[in-house]
Amino acid sequence: MQGTPKISFVIPLYNESEVFKLLVERLNSFSLTLAVEHEFVLVDDGSRDDTPLLMRALALANPAFQCVFLSRNFGHQNAVSAGLTCARGTTAIMILDGDLQDPPELFSTFYEQLNNGYDVVYGVRKKRKENILKRLSYHLFYRMLKQISLSPIILDSGDFSLISRRVVNIINEMPEDSRFLRGMRSWVGFKQIGVEYERDKRAGGEPKYTLKKLIQLAYDGIFNFSFFPIKLLTFSGVACLGSSFVYFILTIIKRFFSDEVPVGFTALLFMIIFFGGIQLISIGIIGEYVFRIFLQVKKRPLFIVKERIVDEKILHE
Ligand code: UDP
Ligand code: MG
Repeated sequence: MQGTPKISFVIPLYNESEVFKLLVERLNSFSLTLAVEHEFVLVDDGSRDDTPLLMRALALANPAFQCVFLSRNFGHQNAVSAGLTCARGTTAIMILDGDLQDPPELFSTFYEQLNNGYDVVYGVRKKRKENILKRLSYHLFYRMLKQISLSPIILDSGDFSLISRRVVNIINEMPEDSRFLRGMRSWVGFKQIGVEYERDKRAGGEPKYTLKKLIQLAYDGIFNFSFFPIKLLTFSGVACLGSSFVYFILTIIKRFFSDEVPVGFTALLFMIIFFGGIQLISIGIIGEYVFRIFLQVKKRPLFIVKERIVDEKILHE
């Protein structure tokens, strides 16, 4: 590609040597159909297989591919963030998975919407070709998150999207750790629109998102975009306190109408429940502060770039 690219395609790869050949073939034939200047930014997220070697050979021979090698596995969200930081596209940046589950050919539809004045165009999964358990968990998770989230959460949309340069700049400047990019993207605002698509099966190899990583991502979605857990804590404190009062009043009334109430025992129980309630409220309030501080203080870099290959040249960071 000659000159500065207008569009960058950011593709994170973690142990993807099995699909790499297919991916490059697909990107190369897709590249031929593109009239606009572009680059592919492949991010190696600390792969332990041949992925980095394959990437290196490719980028040293083909200037359309920029490669970013991270110093270790930082996780998909951080790998995409690294790609967004290194991407040079002046108009927009598209995020794709490396396993060809997100068809790159959809770019033209996304680009049309960008030209219609949208800053963020994201894919909405109409059909998932994955096992039923995974589909059900995704379905429930997105609906639950939508209920409790502070910023609008779009149902069934992942990171597959085309984002304008100005919005990418804003996302790059958001230093928050434990990133949940689809939430951050929606938080930014501007005009956003979804485009429905069918999510293909993985082109090869095993999913690199382990159950643990998926649960972590779900946690990041919940704790970074919702105060609901903290509110729940405070609410249970209030509920305890309320019920202790009701219990107290009931026993006092009982005291006057029957003789069954053991002396001393009631007061003890009341105190235990009452202070239990106060303690829960306090933890809820402290949690509220700790939560905010937690989001602010962690200033570690989100990823470490070990090496880059840009325009067929190796750059050491
Ligand atoms: N990925 C990554 N780092 C990780 C895990 C995954 O860069 O720690 C990449 C992976 O190579 C793929 C994309 O993220 O390109 C999506 O991963 P996967 O297909 O396993 O996720 P799923 O499609 O199951 O959500
Ligand atoms: Mg996948």
